[in-house]
Order: sequence, then C-alpha cells, then structure tokens
Amino acid sequence: MPKKNDELKCSFCGRSESEAGMIIKGMNGNICSSCNELCSDLFDEHTEITIGEAEDIPTLPSPSEIKDFLDQYVIGQHSAKKLLSVAVYNHYKRIFRSDEVDEDIELEKSNVLMIGPTGTGKTLMAQTLAKMLKVPFAIADATTLTEAGYVGEDVENIITKLLQNADFDVEKAEKGIIYIDEIDKIGRKSESTSITRDVSGEGVQQALLKILEGSMVNVPPKGGRKHPHQDFIHVNTSNILFVCGGAFIGLDKIIQKRISTKSIGFESDVHVTANDKDILSKLISSDLMRYGIIPELIGRLPVHCTLEELELDSLVKILTEPKNSIVRQFSKMLKLDGVELEITEDALEEIAKIAIKQKTGARSLRAILEKRMLSIMYDIPDLERVQKCTINAEYIRGESDKPQYKMIRKVATKKKKETE
Ligand code: ADP
Repeated sequence: MPKKNDELKCSFCGRSESEAGMIIKGMNGNICSSCNELCSDLFDEHTEITIGEAEDIPTLPSPSEIKDFLDQYVIGQHSAKKLLSVAVYNHYKRIFRSDEVDEDIELEKSNVLMIGPTGTGKTLMAQTLAKMLKVPFAIADATTLTEAGYVGEDVENIITKLLQNADFDVEKAEKGIIYIDEIDKIGRKSESTSITRDVSGEGVQQALLKILEGSMVNVPPKGGRKHPHQDFIHVNTSNILFVCGGAFIGLDKIIQKRISTKSIGFESDVHVTANDKDILSKLISSDLMRYGIIPELIGRLPVHCTLEELELDSLVKILTEPKNSIVRQFSKMLKLDGVELEITEDALEEIAKIAIKQKTGARSLRAILEKRMLSIMYDIPDLERVQKCTINAEYIRGESDKPQYKMIRKVATKKKKETE
C-alpha cells in the first residue's frame, strides 16, 4: 500500500486515487475517470457538427460559408451558388429550428430548380452541397422514370437509392439531397407556346410531385424487390431536399416571346432588347408551364436558379483550379511515377476550345485531356530518367511528333552540372 503522499492525484480535480478511484498516469499529468468523462463531453461539444452527423440540433453553416465551400469546387456560376446556398441554409433551418417558429406559420420546403446548359455544374453543385453537409445524396435521371406499374424505373426507386447511400439509416436518408437530372425532358419537347401538355410526361410529373411535396414512401429492405408479403421500410420525404435540373432548350424563346407579346401587343414578332444571357433571369412560372411542366410541380420547385454557359476562361479555370481539378489529378498520377507534369497556358486554352466545339460544357474536358495523356501515361513508367513532362498546344492539337512531350532528363542535368 503506497503512502498517502505517494498516491497518484488527478491533475484536473486534485483528488487522490482513494477518493476518485482509478487514475490514468500520463507523461506530465494524470486524469481520473470522472474528469476524463467531462473532457470527452467537452470535446464532443466542440467537434464541428455537420447535419448528417448531428444527433440533436446541429450548427448550420451560414449561406456565405456554404458558398465559400462551393467556390472550392465550382467555377463561376456565382448567382446560382448564392441562391443555392440560401436555399440550402433555409431548408435545414426549417428542419432543425421549426419549433422556434409560431405554430400557425408553416415554413414550406424550398426545393430547387436549376436551369442551365449541359456540363455547367448543376449536378456538381448538388453533389458538393451533400458532401459539405455530409448528408446522403442520390442522383436520378427523369427520363428513365415511369409511373408505378409501367416498365422502367419507379419514381420511388429514387428514395431506395438515397436509402442505400445512407447505409439504410432512415433518419439520415430523410435529411438527404436528391438531384433529379433532365427534368425538362418530361415536359413537352416542342418549343411551341401552346399550353397543351405531353400526356406521357405528365404521369411521371404527377408521381414526382408526390415525393417532392412530402409523402411516406415504402422501400423494400436491403436490395430487395417489392413483393406483397414484405415488410417495407417507410421513408418520409418531407425533409428531403430535391434539386431538379435541366437544360430547358427553347425556354429562352418562350420568355422572349412572352416579353415581346406583352410589351408590343398580341403575337407580335418584334423582339425586345433583353440580350440572350439575361433572358433566363426574366423567367416566371407561366414560362415553365408553357414548356410543359405542370403547375403543381412548378409550385413545389419555388427556387429557380440559372447557370451560364461556360466560356473559355472558365473552362481553363475548371481544368486547374478546383480542389480536385483534372490537371491536379493527372499531376498526382505522374508524380507517383516521379515525374512533374506541366501543361502550358496555351495547351489549356486549346483543350477549352475543343470542349467549346463539342458543346457539352466542361463535361468533355477530361476526355480530351485523357486522350492526349494516354501515350504519356503508357510511356512514362518505362522512361526512368524522365523528370518533367511538358504539354503544349501543338501536342493537344496533335501537331507535334510522337513522343509528344518535353522532358528534362536527369542525365542532361548531370551533364550540365559536369560542364559547370
Ligand atoms: P450538368 O450541368 O450537366 O449537371 P455536371 O455538374 O455533371 O453538369 O458537370 C460535368 C462535369 O464537368 C463535372 O463533374 C465537373 O468536373 C465539370 N464541371 C461542370 N461545370 C463546372 C463548374 N462550373 N466548375 C467546375 N467544374 C465543372
């Protein structure tokens, strides 16, 4: 039995082993079990809480924090990012702080409609938001959806996907984000301003409406298919944030026509002065109706944001600036072979120009560079003395001879050193 003076003492509360029970000895101090517990609670309180992980009321990132995060991954599209940040902030505020609001004021869900050409970052934005908030995320393609009972994908399968991505944690899935792509394709396809609708698309719109406005969806348990004697998992979609996106080709003409008709007179052909870039900002709900989206669905997508066509300088930035940019990824890949990758400014512009010609926004950037990188990635592992690989515009255009990269060989540096 140690003497009283030799007893270990907790460096936090000063109590001895005989008073506090077991004490753990550290390098410069000791801790008893109750102080250890207290510290661990304090740690928990100070850990950054994100929506997907929080059990109670989480700390919501502010709209500007959300936008700052989006800025790291999404180039340009500032007004869309701002709008989306506010919509997402409001959405989660509505979920987590609803009890602070008067009972007679019901905060409605603000699902988002994103309108913009293909490859401009619609999916990327929704995906990045889910990543930031650490909430489950699922992508669906509206063109593959059918009404229940028809051949194709049931609208409810979207919820199954989300639940799968939430590891079948229902509570987590109920706070998730779903991106529905090509929503414009389930409206009418023609550019006419008639308000008659495509009946086949309307059924899917009705089915989507149900889950968007909030309903209980029955999902078969892990990976199973639906059959009559099965226990379903019930998922409430009321707090799921739906982001719908589409290119809405021809919507600009509908807006243009409405504005010119209104300002000049019925069925006038005179065009107003709004330039093409601004025209989508003048969007009102009736334009979407004319496009073939049913009014009820429009009502459930109250936040509209428009994305701009990406121009050359934005495409160049996309190649290099985002945290996980394509150039960074290829650089990392070559670095693993001990080679530094340099892509000259004119080469980057050349890649962007090719992408512009392909009219798929930033989507084709990777494929264009990947194609040119293929022989480099094939050769480099065998070229042990390569230090650096430089890609220029001629190489991108396919004008320079094979091998199409500039290299600084260690042997050259050595020789140079010898002559110095
Ligand atoms: P869509 O608008 O058709 O949904 P995506 O978001 O799927 O386009 O974009 C396809 C790819 O192009 C993304 O994975 C991303 O690599 C790139 N990209 C598109 N737009 C941007 C952008 N504004 N900033 C950064 N990368 C982008």
